[in-house]
Amino acid sequence: MLRQTFLWLSHRQGIFRFVRNNRLARRFANRFVAGETIDSALVAVRALNAKRITATLDLLGESVSRADEARATAAHYVELLDRIAAEGLDANVSVKLTAMGQDISDTLCIENITQVLERARQHRTFVRLDMEGSAYTERTLQLFEEHLFARFPEEVGIVLQSYLRRTPADVANAIDIQCRVRLCKGAYKEPATIAFPEKRDVDATYVACMHRLMSEGKYPGLATHDEAIIEQAKQYAREQGISQDRYEFQMLYGVRRDLQELLVREGYRMRVYVPYGTQWYPYLLRRLAERPANLAFMTASIMKEQFAKRR
Ligand SMILES: Cc1cc2nc3c(=O)[nH]c(=O)nc-3n(C[C@H](O)[C@H](O)[C@H](O)COP(=O)(O)OP(=O)(O)OC[C@H]3O[C@@H](n4cnc5c(N)ncnc54)[C@H](O)[C@@H]3O)c2cc1C
Repeated sequence: MLRQTFLWLSHRQGIFRFVRNNRLARRFANRFVAGETIDSALVAVRALNAKRITATLDLLGESVSRADEARATAAHYVELLDRIAAEGLDANVSVKLTAMGQDISDTLCIENITQVLERARQHRTFVRLDMEGSAYTERTLQLFEEHLFARFPEEVGIVLQSYLRRTPADVANAIDIQCRVRLCKGAYKEPATIAFPEKRDVDATYVACMHRLMSEGKYPGLATHDEAIIEQAKQYAREQGISQDRYEFQMLYGVRRDLQELLVREGYRMRVYVPYGTQWYPYLLRRLAERPANLAFMTASIMKEQFAKRR
């Protein structure tokens, strides 16, 4: 119930305008979002790199409805790639195709993402296409395969979500064409006709897809904070003789920092997804939907800080 409420709230722009002006709400956001500018995001990346954690940077913002906004977002990513390279940081970028203009036209979207990919190639880095709600799954995968992967096989990869019933077939296809996949459970509200309603099915599909990608895929990103699944990944790698440099674990900024650091100490590769930008509201609400206890956790830590200041 709480999860549905947070997901519903994530679409209410009026409420966002209200919370953006609220100091307390902005402090909530700071736990999961690395500020509103490139500079603040790069500070976060530098701190992660110092702990031997790599990053993928995401400029928050989805469902762009004007061509000039989509072009400005593409230009922002190009600048971001230049800044990452100039500052010698170990980070790539994650991009949503709706932010590149997918809702306006495929031509505009391809033009914009191509600019980003060309710059990524120049800097020998990588662009991950985030996966959004199911209305975009087929379109995103089609656009990826038909227009981007053929031209940029080393620079672009996709995300597949284990809550979708179609995902094992998409994993098989990704293995056939040998493209890079980030595997996650999925963060959007989806109907039972296309997505598993039960967590145990989402988890079982995750593990089955993870095993296939680890054995036969191209450098998969295992994006999860689920300790049981992470244990299964490690065990599978040991049993199959899959070395630690053939895959990486990925987690979200501000989530399970203890586990991120532990995995690095154990010699595993860890990449953290670092979101930043002014449009942090839907992202934050999705994180609260995943774990409503975060609300209590963040309230408690803010109150503790306030209390300490007064003393
Ligand atoms: C690097 C990365 C990239 C992602 N990219 C996408 C994408 O492109 N598209 C998409 O739909 N989804 C994406 N996601 C989100 C993902 O789909 C899940 O919604 C999210 O990761 C929670 O699932 P989980 O695998 O951690 O497992 P869960 O079963 O949800 O959680 C397992 C445990 O992890 C911890 N945990 C999980 N979430 C949180 C949280 N928010 N705060 C605190 N603790 C938490 C809790 O201890 C929980 O018990 C991404 C996730 C990661 C890590």
